[in-house]
Amino acid sequence: MVDLGTQYARIKPKVDEAIQKVIDSADFINGSAVNKFAENLSNYVYCNHVIPCANGTDALQIALMACGLKRGDEVIVPAFSFVATAEVVALLGLRPVFVDVNEITFNIDVSKIEAAITPRTRAIIPVHLYGQMADMETIMMIAKKHDLFVIEDAAQAIGAKILTPRGIMLSAGATGTFGCTSFFPTKNLGAFGDGGAIFTNDPELAKKAKTIANHGSSEKYYNDIIGINSRLDTIQAAILDVKLGELNKYSYSQQFSASDYNDALRGIDGVLVPERAPDMVHVYNQYTIKVLDNRRNELKRFLAESGIPTMIYYPVPLHKQKAFSDYAVKGQFDVAEKLAKSVLSLPMHSELNVYQIRYIADRITKFFW
Ligand SMILES: *Cc1c(COP(=O)(O)O)cnc(C)c1O
Repeated sequence: MVDLGTQYARIKPKVDEAIQKVIDSADFINGSAVNKFAENLSNYVYCNHVIPCANGTDALQIALMACGLKRGDEVIVPAFSFVATAEVVALLGLRPVFVDVNEITFNIDVSKIEAAITPRTRAIIPVHLYGQMADMETIMMIAKKHDLFVIEDAAQAIGAKILTPRGIMLSAGATGTFGCTSFFPTKNLGAFGDGGAIFTNDPELAKKAKTIANHGSSEKYYNDIIGINSRLDTIQAAILDVKLGELNKYSYSQQFSASDYNDALRGIDGVLVPERAPDMVHVYNQYTIKVLDNRRNELKRFLAESGIPTMIYYPVPLHKQKAFSDYAVKGQFDVAEKLAKSVLSLPMHSELNVYQIRYIADRITKFFW
């Protein structure tokens, strides 16, 4: 699915030097590379404040904690996402309220958000799934009208953008109250381990999130609020800073691969290629097709026999997960359920080449032949 070995080989001298520098200075916790990376990342995502933390799940938790929500408050989340999006909500004693997704974009269906809002609703967590932003312009309008926080789950979408009809550029993670991202190795900006970050343009909320991530302390050994311990390793920050310099190249490469896949697969009856709106910068953390006529699992097996790995993100929609059985009482999630049965993600990474894509497309053609 990814080729982290080849990706590393191309930048090995720079990465090795950055790691060695941290080791030589023994600057392991909150070292200077962490601040430097946060500053560079803040420029990259067009956001004033970046708070690095231990992983993307923590980023979501810290952002929610910084919003100061009360036990039982409701938070709207899409029914089709990685578990972390809704897990942190429930973990904090809040109530995840699921909303169905759009069949074309895979993202939260904005036309169904308002019906899910109650007097207890305090926040929306849109997910920019597979690397394409949710309809943030509409989400921000709804949030403003109902006085809600917006916490973007941009774990799969660093560098993604939308140009609105009014010519305003919205950048993934920098548009809501908070944005959260992950540096899990297979994300577009991947560490050599775990990592995450929180984005905000609000200086007060930035301070609060930073305090929460640091045991609720802004001055050492003086603890003002209950927080957690969530830090980005200095070694990871040093690696990420090198890879941030390559990120546009990685994104372009994945965009070209997506377009090669589209050209090769669009004519095949039996699959639907992912659609991208013309005013979107889609960063393709995943290239996800829909397989028609219930043949997804059969195609997956067929490709595996040809040595082609594929993944199902995600086989169970959130409202059907056992862990959320207490919350999923209301609503219909037909699209999420349909997608869980039809989506198939093909290999997608910065090192993919056109011959590999042609081979994969040939095998898919053969399957439907
Ligand atoms: C990866 C991911 C997360 C969590 O990130 P971790 O760093 O693994 O904790 C959250 N949400 C989505 C949509 C993700 O893809």
